[in-house]
Amino acid sequence: MKELAIGVGLGFVLFLLWQGYNVLPGLFLVGLLLVLAQQTNLRGFSRKYVSVGAPVVAALVTFQDIGGQPTAKKELVEALDFVVAADKIKKLGIRPLKGILLTGPPGTGKTLLAKAAANYTNSIFLSTSGSEFVEIYAGVGAQRVRQLFDQARELAKRDNKASAIIFIDEIEVLGGKRGQHSSHLEYDQTLNQLLVEMDGLAYDDAIQIVLVGATNRFDLLDNALLRPGRFDRIVNVDLPDRDGRRQILELHTRNKPLAEDVDLDGLSRETFGFSGAHLESLTNEAAILALRESAEVITQRHFEEAINKVIMGEKLERRPSDDERWRIAVHETGHALQAESDRAGSVSSISITSRGGSLGHVRHTPKEDFYLYTRAQLESQIRVALAGAVAEEVVLGEKSTGSANDFEAAADLARRIVQTGLSPIGIVGDDITSDRAYQRAVSEILREQEEVTRQAVGERKNTLEKIARAVLDKESLGGDDFRRIAAGAAGAAGDEGTEAGDQPVAAAAASANDQSQAAPAATSAGDV
Ligand code: ADP
Repeated sequence: MKELAIGVGLGFVLFLLWQGYNVLPGLFLVGLLLVLAQQTNLRGFSRKYVSVGAPVVAALVTFQDIGGQPTAKKELVEALDFVVAADKIKKLGIRPLKGILLTGPPGTGKTLLAKAAANYTNSIFLSTSGSEFVEIYAGVGAQRVRQLFDQARELAKRDNKASAIIFIDEIEVLGGKRGQHSSHLEYDQTLNQLLVEMDGLAYDDAIQIVLVGATNRFDLLDNALLRPGRFDRIVNVDLPDRDGRRQILELHTRNKPLAEDVDLDGLSRETFGFSGAHLESLTNEAAILALRESAEVITQRHFEEAINKVIMGEKLERRPSDDERWRIAVHETGHALQAESDRAGSVSSISITSRGGSLGHVRHTPKEDFYLYTRAQLESQIRVALAGAVAEEVVLGEKSTGSANDFEAAADLARRIVQTGLSPIGIVGDDITSDRAYQRAVSEILREQEEVTRQAVGERKNTLEKIARAVLDKESLGGDDFRRIAAGAAGAAGDEGTEAGDQPVAAAAASANDQSQAAPAATSAGDV
């Protein structure tokens, strides 16, 4: 075909020359068009992927090869079961799973999870990155998206697979909010095409395609991508905690000869803030150091040196010092104890592993959504917000700058009490309440609640310290472990408080609530 076109073209040029026409401008134009076509196609996706002989098979990665991340793995497997049990799901008329979004810092194993997902579902695996789609030429990105989906179908058909997983790393480059780029037309067209492809996926398709996106900038994604029927499942892939780091170290030292003195437990303690990729690099560096010394086995000293190398070489984000971590543990435990005393059983985990912008967090069991709140419920939430700072004060002597967001949240809640007429100054309005009276009412609520919290936390100082030590040691504590330690500490009569019964947390709730709440039952239902 190509040869025929060239032949006809040449013949035509010769004919024009023979007729005495000036063909130079025409030749120049054709040359220009050819160069342009070359640019768009050569760098194009089509060549890159279509010419790949074997599909990018992820046969070797399974979920067992991924350390830590128990929650991410569980959520991912739950989502993938929709693909595995496609027939059953089709019968019930459930719409197919189209997209899973993995969010989290770089190097935490998102690519590995996507590969393991392909393996789990026995799918073809295609991998690319958001930046591959973006060119300055309008329409090229959209064309690449189309080709990618077509190719996934083709490869799955060729290999007799019923499904394909397309993995797009850095999906925020391609799926960023529309209308924000300077060359936005091209970006928008590319994203639109992706949405069209996702919307077009149906159960009737011979090949089921699931798009797995990865990003560490969830905030940049266009909302359209997150609508139902697109990226339905969002799975957080956080930095590993101590147990997770130990597992990852074990995985990456499986094939390495270790000396007797190597203490993986100790290493996992020392590597706070390391991602899976950092840990992999750590084990590799240690092995290289051993090689340089012609040692037969890798020793603890090699690992220690490698830790420094990774920290310096990779410029890890600033890690909190030991003192800071103790403070964070105390702060988070303060929140958790207060939440638990107002709503028993509500804490599901405490963690001091940094994630996103925060240094630690307490996760609560899914809360019921209330439309209405009583004053007692709002005050309970204020106490939970303030308990972090108060715990720092009680245990460490003073507060720190880490509580600014908590204070903001507490102030918002107090304003809400006043604005809705629930405070002692009663119904408020622009023309009946002075700014001063309003502000005084708000700060009075905050002061009162801070006092109640201070008393409650003070009474449970020993329990708090004991739990905080466990949090510091393990970096994250599940809700049940938290309650077990709390009960144990209080049972051992460690605190000056009154909680000697078998329900120490609830007892503390009663003592914390005796000031202003009429009904502790209402508080324990508080939405914290
Ligand atoms: P991401 O996609 O999140 O940036 P990757 O999945 O590409 O991270 O991880 C890069 C490398 O780091 C992997 O090839 C693996 O060697 C190591 N790694 C990262 N997370 C883990 C983990 N959870 N378990 C084992 N190895 C990991």
